[in-house]
Amino acid sequence: MEHTIIIGGGPCGLACALELQKQGVQPLVIEQGNIVDTIYHYPTHQTFFSTSNKLEIGGIPFIDEKPKPVRMDALVYYREVVKRNKIRVHTYEAMTDVQQIAEGQLKVFTKKNEKQQTYYTENVIIATGYYNQPQLLHIPGEQLLKVSHYFKEAHPYYNKDIVVIGGKNSAVDTALELERAGANVTVLYRGAEYSSSIKPWILPDFDSLVQKQAIHLEFHANVTEITEKSVYYQVNGQMKQIANDFVFAMTGYMPNIPLLEKIGIEVDLQTGRPTFDPHTLETNVKNVYVAGVVISGYNGNETFIENGRFHGKQISTAINT
Ligand code: FAD
Ligand code: NAP
Repeated sequence: MEHTIIIGGGPCGLACALELQKQGVQPLVIEQGNIVDTIYHYPTHQTFFSTSNKLEIGGIPFIDEKPKPVRMDALVYYREVVKRNKIRVHTYEAMTDVQQIAEGQLKVFTKKNEKQQTYYTENVIIATGYYNQPQLLHIPGEQLLKVSHYFKEAHPYYNKDIVVIGGKNSAVDTALELERAGANVTVLYRGAEYSSSIKPWILPDFDSLVQKQAIHLEFHANVTEITEKSVYYQVNGQMKQIANDFVFAMTGYMPNIPLLEKIGIEVDLQTGRPTFDPHTLETNVKNVYVAGVVISGYNGNETFIENGRFHGKQISTAINT
């Protein structure tokens, strides 16, 4: 029987593993992709807004000569952390359920290459993040192949008509990179003004391009339908249409609520937050804990690597006292 199984090998799940190791426990991490899969799936040329020291886990130095690290620096760092600390990770294996079978005994169900596996453990930490579940618009045309909730690189969109939906950091980053690559970019944002969440060092570049009309931005814009050739949206009750080749709906991400509920964790449907004790991070299911951005529900701007990396300390203290 395992002492603790951590579901999710993102920065916060790995930080939990390191904290438990400090207490003499060798937890098992179960990860549906490979380690830090979310960061791997970031835009290829992503620069973090955090300095490297704020992305460190387990007190292991992350030294970078640049003011802010890029995606590749972080991939190298987290790989080295796992390797040097011999963190046990079962990769390409997805947790499908957790059931309480007796006092202090949990059964974890997983799937790897269509094969079901089970594990027995005293504790489970759910650190499954949010990046696999985009916040959907629920409008006609959202399922078209030309619509994506993830941006990787700008080159394929040179000289194409692109709509970016949303008005926070992913939308602004995506619009900037697309404009640099020669795409015709329109940003449709439902807000009335620039969001205060936009990082202050990227807003001036974006605003300058908007002022020069190199990027077309509309506030109060609510997208109602996407077709093969157009995007339809409403501004103050007025219906508008724009020619379109591709759409990036950068509308944020949310936890896997059906999976949390299947395990028995109560989720507030207004906020998307699981029920947990703020001191121990134990959920309403005994010996099942939550760590990382999964605790923040629909608000992806509350927990980051910067603060979620400390959840492991709270949980390991609770487990071992
Ligand atoms: P994740 O990193 O999402 O890890 C969760 C892991 O769980 C994933 O690897 C996933 O594959 C796995 N998983 C999910 N479901 C299952 C399952 N059923 N079974 C097994 N494994 C599963 N934060 C910062 O602090 N600073 C920044 O500069 C910053 N920049 C960002 C830039 C971008 C473009 C984005 C999108 C986010 C950024 N963030 C930043 C936020 C940061 O990425 C998240 O807060 C962070 O990834 C949360 O870590 P986590 O371990 O909780 O979740
Ligand atoms: P986000 O911060 O959740 O922003 C989502 C945007 O989409 C918001 O502007 C929101 O509008 C809008 N939106 C949400 N639902 C909508 C709907 N149904 N219809 C229309 N618009 C909708 O998501 P994000 O920008 O992808 O950021 C996710 C996380 O990644 C955050 O933690 C962020 O800080 C991080 N990030 C970091 C960097 C970096 O380090 N450089 C870059 C990108 C992202 P409202 O403004 O009205 O809420």
